[in-house]
Amino acid sequence: MDRIELLKKTKLFVLDMDGTFYLGDNILNGSLYFMQQLEKYGKEFIFFTNNSSQSPEKYIDKLSKMDMHITRDQIMTSGDVMIRFLNTHHKGKSVYLLGTEPLIKSFKDCGIKLINDEVNKYTFDDIDKPEFKALKPDIVVVGFDKTLTYDKLTFACTFIREGSMFLSTHMDINCPVVGGFIPDSGAMCAAIKLSTGIEPRYVGKPFSETADMVADATGIAKEEMAFVGDRIYTDVATGVNNGAMGVLVLSGETKKEDIPLSDIKPDAVYESIYEMGKLMNENL
Ligand SMILES: [Mg+2]
Repeated sequence: MDRIELLKKTKLFVLDMDGTFYLGDNILNGSLYFMQQLEKYGKEFIFFTNNSSQSPEKYIDKLSKMDMHITRDQIMTSGDVMIRFLNTHHKGKSVYLLGTEPLIKSFKDCGIKLINDEVNKYTFDDIDKPEFKALKPDIVVVGFDKTLTYDKLTFACTFIREGSMFLSTHMDINCPVVGGFIPDSGAMCAAIKLSTGIEPRYVGKPFSETADMVADATGIAKEEMAFVGDRIYTDVATGVNNGAMGVLVLSGETKKEDIPLSDIKPDAVYESIYEMGKLMNENL
């Protein structure tokens, strides 16, 4: 699509954060300028991250330190998508969650029936005990669990092997950090899949559950929504694969030479969200 046309057509920009709005702890040059242009031209936005290890409040706080002040309804995580998915399709079902404290709290606050406290009293040596077997949940959910232990991994594998449904917030394999990468939920799911032979179902970017949730929450049609980010296979694919637009920015992971190598073709490519703002200012 024409790069100006896309900016004109888009009513809602769904923005990735790391590599798109900021890089680590530093805001990217011109990010606030882009947000000013959105306001000027009556465009809406929300931030969306696949990282389910932190609470939305933590991101609100991080953004406010960059002079970007948002409300709770202007940010979504893959954890939010999973909660909505469970409450829509599996209401009242019991869940064992591999996740950090903030994610566990979000699940509890939204009425998900977690059995973590009961299960985590045991160790991996206990899996043949009848009282442990009796705890088997309907569903195992794997998030980005930075508190993962061998016990928890064994519990998840045991339940899934015995028939619990296997879901995960997002498929990202590594999470970029200063100086390298740390294993993300996709890598944890790969270990469980190897042990059990069972594939997980993911709901975060690039899957339809994410686009559906954004459409439901904002009331904006998918055709008028652009998913903007620095990763083709998650950010851009969410738009391209699900009836919305997928926009690539070159301010993070993806380089220009990577684009022809990908099966997913972005609807438009910009250097940064700053360039998007500049083009809006000059052409809208
Ligand atoms: Mg990113």
